[in-house]
Amino acid sequence: MAVYQKMLVAIDLTEEAPVVLDKAAEISKAHGAQITLVHVVEPVGYAYGGDIPMDLTELQDQLDKAAREQLQKYGEKYGIPADNQVVLVGRPESEIHRLAKEYGTDLIVVGSHGRKGLQLLLGSTANGVLHGAVCDVLAVRIEN
Ligand code: AMP
Repeated sequence: MAVYQKMLVAIDLTEEAPVVLDKAAEISKAHGAQITLVHVVEPVGYAYGGDIPMDLTELQDQLDKAAREQLQKYGEKYGIPADNQVVLVGRPESEIHRLAKEYGTDLIVVGSHGRKGLQLLLGSTANGVLHGAVCDVLAVRIEN
């Protein structure tokens, strides 16, 4: 039996995403595993600290829409069906953990810059995902 059957591939919307996806696609092929693609949109309210009285719904909707479109493009390129493309709003680490539990994921794949020292202490998303994950986590090395 294949070691991995259900993979959760978390991507940001930068040029890192295809690097993470290329590696995930290879593993998925080797194991016959299903990929779910996830992007977590951070709530815009966080960025503004909630101090400015503004309706941010439209901005949030636009970010959400842009993320869905991007996931759809990757979905087409990597053969990931629409049902397996997930856009959520929240904190990336917590949402990725929540989804991994909900889907019975056995491998989470993220990108990592392999930061050192203080930056590592401050924490990256990969670091946050690794801590508290209930399954294996693969950090795909991104060359800086
Ligand atoms: P970072 O620590 O923010 O440089 O991101 C490292 C990796 O974490 C990225 O390559 C993605 O795999 C994942 N990641 C970062 N931000 C998000 C996000 N908003 N949604 C999903 N995955 C993310």
